[in-house]
Amino acid sequence: MKRRASEEGAKVLVVVSAVSGVTNELQAVCDGHADAAATRARLDALAQRHRAFCADELGLDPDAVLGERLAALRALADDPRRAAGELAWQAEVLAQGELLSSTLGVAYLRSQGLDVGWTDSRDWLQARGLPNQNAWSRHLSASCDYEGDAAQRARFAAAGPALRIAQGFIARAEGGGTAILGRGGSDTSAAYFGALLGARRVEIWTDVPGMFSANPRQVPDARLLTRLDYAEAQEIATTGAKVLHPRCIHPCREARVPLWIRDTTRPDMPGTVIDSSATTIPGVKAISSRRGIVLVSMETIGMWQQVGFLSDVFERFKAHGLSVDLIGSSEANVTVSLDPSDNLVSTNVLDALCADLAQVCKVKVIAPCAAITLVGRGMRSLLHKLSDVWAEFGRERVHLISQSSNDLNLTFVVDEGLAEGMLPRLHALLAQSGAMPVTEAAVFGPSWRHIDHPAAERPAPWWLRQRERVLQAAAAGTPRYLYHLPTVRERARDLAEVPAIDRRFFALKANPHPAVLRTLEAEGFGFECVSLGEIEHLFGVLPALAPDRVLFTPSFAPRREFEAALARGVHVTLDSLAPLQQWPELFAGREIVLRVDPGFGQGHHEKVRTGGKDAKFGLALESVGEFTAAARAAGARIAGLHAHIGSGIHDAQHWHTVYASLAAVAEGIGTVGFIDVGGGLGVAYDPEAEPFDLEAYAAALAEVKAAYPQYALWVEPGRYLVAEAGALLLHVTQVVRKQGQRRVGADGGMNALMRPALYGAWHEITNLTRAGDPPGEPCEVVGPVCESSDVLGRQRRLPDATAEGDVILVGHAGAYGAVMANRYNLRELPQEDVLDD
Ligand SMILES: *Cc1c(COP(=O)(O)O)cnc(C)c1O
Repeated sequence: MKRRASEEGAKVLVVVSAVSGVTNELQAVCDGHADAAATRARLDALAQRHRAFCADELGLDPDAVLGERLAALRALADDPRRAAGELAWQAEVLAQGELLSSTLGVAYLRSQGLDVGWTDSRDWLQARGLPNQNAWSRHLSASCDYEGDAAQRARFAAAGPALRIAQGFIARAEGGGTAILGRGGSDTSAAYFGALLGARRVEIWTDVPGMFSANPRQVPDARLLTRLDYAEAQEIATTGAKVLHPRCIHPCREARVPLWIRDTTRPDMPGTVIDSSATTIPGVKAISSRRGIVLVSMETIGMWQQVGFLSDVFERFKAHGLSVDLIGSSEANVTVSLDPSDNLVSTNVLDALCADLAQVCKVKVIAPCAAITLVGRGMRSLLHKLSDVWAEFGRERVHLISQSSNDLNLTFVVDEGLAEGMLPRLHALLAQSGAMPVTEAAVFGPSWRHIDHPAAERPAPWWLRQRERVLQAAAAGTPRYLYHLPTVRERARDLAEVPAIDRRFFALKANPHPAVLRTLEAEGFGFECVSLGEIEHLFGVLPALAPDRVLFTPSFAPRREFEAALARGVHVTLDSLAPLQQWPELFAGREIVLRVDPGFGQGHHEKVRTGGKDAKFGLALESVGEFTAAARAAGARIAGLHAHIGSGIHDAQHWHTVYASLAAVAEGIGTVGFIDVGGGLGVAYDPEAEPFDLEAYAAALAEVKAAYPQYALWVEPGRYLVAEAGALLLHVTQVVRKQGQRRVGADGGMNALMRPALYGAWHEITNLTRAGDPPGEPCEVVGPVCESSDVLGRQRRLPDATAEGDVILVGHAGAYGAVMANRYNLRELPQEDVLDD
């Protein structure tokens, strides 16, 4: 710190806390003030502890370093104010921890040859009483002035060496003596000093890497927030995050001093910078929860829209010293939340309040509750992206929804037991829906999971290992897809090792490239086709393929496709009553598969969810009886059940649920021999993210298979087998800077790869030509199509030297890539190539 500061030519004021555990001991001294002997014994023990620390840990002479301070500490036992435990005496007692630790710190650094000064915080921080503040908080939870002036700053600059140590937690009391700052202790002191002295910045060194998008203990995928504005940070701190006490933000905000949270054990991490210049990126920055919330619901008994009702009610909260946080109101009801406070828990203030309120309204208390809050700028403009979040809350009872008037938060109050379990899922939904813009590199740093276990050991992707060959392929012309067949085989073999699975099919719509089909056929896969075109393509590539290895699962297909598929002898799936009712003769004497919609959907985007009332796929569970009767009438036999209700799913429990609900249906039908649980296995598009947990998938399937062993288990993944085996190669056409925004243009965009435009999908984008260069200024990577949605990626840190002719690689493009490419703007379709070693 000293080195960096002197590089910057800055003076450094270090604000220290007490040695660990000491403040609690001093609090015990205050609490036990009446007992003179015990007080003396406690103070002696503390003196002894500091002497030992000084001699043993720091190798210094305790008498020389601490002599005077320890005498002052002991003298507090003889202080005439002790017996009554006067507040001014308690403040003196509590201040001792920081006075001692700062003295030790100065002595130690001097012994190391540094020129260090000792600063008494009470000479700089002046406590100031607030209206309605009681004597206790004036002494023990004081607030300070922090408006500095030039004279004060000059006095500080002249007062000592460039490096100084001061005490956190303490200030000069009004009228002299010592006051304690209370909660937020030394962080608040540092903020006061920063504001008062007009510091270049305030660094808070703590034991976590910074503020996160959720509590990492509850949500391991929570992302480090590297940049916040003051208001967002204040909101996050107030609604649950414990990293920084909300009190310390205000002084820095007023004085425009940046705050920087750093981790003592990980000094290389970027930490969290809180300042006013942060580019305002709208979006949810964090989700937090607070427990112990009490809701008070009040119904008017008087007239509708009774004048003065609110003031009657709020006066009573004030009289009981309770401050209201959230408010929801209608014409006849007001519901408010109370934050947990010592006051609320330890006394019967709530009973007294209710008795009082009962004079003016009907009261109901709902507790314990938890408040789940989404924090971020521009909350109101995000509502359309929150549909998944609303849906998640829709499953539970929400007592109150509140949206702050500063447009910074949206809070849901639910039963306390629910909150913690909901957070990981809500966090994932926010990230997936784009409401939490986790790809904004200026704000979102690495995930806690990544910080805790760096992914550095993961092998480099195939396209980096074979960079020269990939560049050669690009030289033959772009846009061009390249598929790495060994990676396809690797994924195929991973799946082959899941014991519960009896038969595997590849959903060929993900990637029908002939080399991919041959590779998977050789690995023992069958194929799932959704159109006659796919069936014909498949048999064109693999003429000898047994029809039993092919499933036909169309959606709203015409009669002739069913006829042709039946003639081929492949497994035909029906997903509504219509084909049986319109063309019963087609299915006479045939085995058919029934695609069921179990009534819920899942997936990485609403456009890939294929279950539930609003999805066009599958027969509703309630119509299974009717279908069975129609099949019997037509002379068809239901040999299998099928469900595929979403794509890009990471929660292994999903397939367990699907299999279990299909097995229940199968028992009612009687003729079913196999259950096909579809595909949908997720893929980690972001190299930082955890790969799909195949072990959990295998375990979930094994469990449900054990429960219903009579059915064969079939699966039909697409994406999982081919996504990471494919890359899209492009050339840079132009690099343009417009009003500060750098744009890298490529010779293929939404015409070559639709997923970003269609689903808001995120793909890794690399400048392969300059693979070794450090990340540059964030840029947008755009294609050549005349549509504003022709953006492949935003906020990408392509190297600053990126220039025309460089090869850009879009990763994980092997699934739903080339097959969705189109000729819009009459651009040529991308080429396709394979690498087979
Ligand atoms: C698309 C599709 C699949 C494959 O989905 P993935 O998410 O790529 O695994 C499986 N079954 C059916 C019926 C499909 O339409």
